[in-house]
Amino acid sequence: MASSCTEIDVLENVNSKLLNFAFLRLGKKCNASESLSFARAVCNISSIKENEVLTVMNFDTLFNRGVNVLKDMKRGITVNMQQHDKTAVAILTKFLKEIEFHERSLMKVLGREQIEKESKSNSRRENEITVTLAEHLLGRLSPGQSYVINSRAKSRETCSCGEDHENNPTYRNTGIGHEDVWHGFVDVVLENAIASAEKPRVIDEDNKEGMDEFDGRTQTGDQSIAETISFSFIQKACHPSFENHLVPNIMIDSERFRILMYDADKDILLCGMDFPIFYENHLNITSVVILWLVLHYRIFCSGINDTPEELEKVKCNFTEVAGEKLEIYRKSLKAGVANFPTVKKETSVFPSYESILFGKRKW
Ligand SMILES: [Zn+2]
Repeated sequence: MASSCTEIDVLENVNSKLLNFAFLRLGKKCNASESLSFARAVCNISSIKENEVLTVMNFDTLFNRGVNVLKDMKRGITVNMQQHDKTAVAILTKFLKEIEFHERSLMKVLGREQIEKESKSNSRRENEITVTLAEHLLGRLSPGQSYVINSRAKSRETCSCGEDHENNPTYRNTGIGHEDVWHGFVDVVLENAIASAEKPRVIDEDNKEGMDEFDGRTQTGDQSIAETISFSFIQKACHPSFENHLVPNIMIDSERFRILMYDADKDILLCGMDFPIFYENHLNITSVVILWLVLHYRIFCSGINDTPEELEKVKCNFTEVAGEKLEIYRKSLKAGVANFPTVKKETSVFPSYESILFGKRKW
């Protein structure tokens, strides 16, 4: 493997020491126990604090394994790496070699906002952005080098950057969850991870309550948190023997991204900082490396390890807000769903005429 190639030199400026994750907690108004689509999820989140200061975790500590691989990469010592590390390093090296191509394609499509605003419908434009981000950034950095786009997207766009592509985007059913609890269709499925393309969400009067934090973007934030938690439970059910069950969701739009991670075993919800995709008309190398480390979390993330007492202090309380529906999250969540059956809901606060008539007489 080339150890001193110029692509590696750009990594010199990557400093992940200054990056942190915050711990989030779900509030009492969180509706995880109700049958609702992700779009209607309310999380009522707050940040966990001690003496008014946010409790945070350093990125280098959480991704210790990955950061060590990165250090070896910077020093050019890649010979003694384990095979899975070498495979991951090869993916990053390849991306850095082709970075100008991807940068051009991303800038071309993501920068179109103003020019084409009027000629394309919002949903087509959103899907165009999602496809390009998946094709030229997320999919390229992920372990499987592939991605799946939600087949319910209003249009089945191919990447519109104008360059030749080896393959067209794959559109499939991306439904996750369960009709009795939170459920819905995620925008992008990567290998063992998901990404939600941020879009403005209509705020209805009933849901205004959850809007107090998360940079004023709570409405999309709530949806992404619900997706993160549900997806993490699915991953835990599929891979119960993993040491660490922190699973990421990448919230991304045409300018920035934020990493959310949920540990379905320890009940811990993390929220990363906001990162810009570009820096002065170039892809931001730190952001690229962060995405690469996070997408390879299975080999690079060390998880949160502390005493049960300390872990208790940073729990997000999902197990409490889910209540008796927790078992559904643990055992019955589905993935790759095309349609969720409609769950009949009581429309009145009072039981129906029939349910009283046919009740079981106790006296
Ligand atoms: Zn393209």
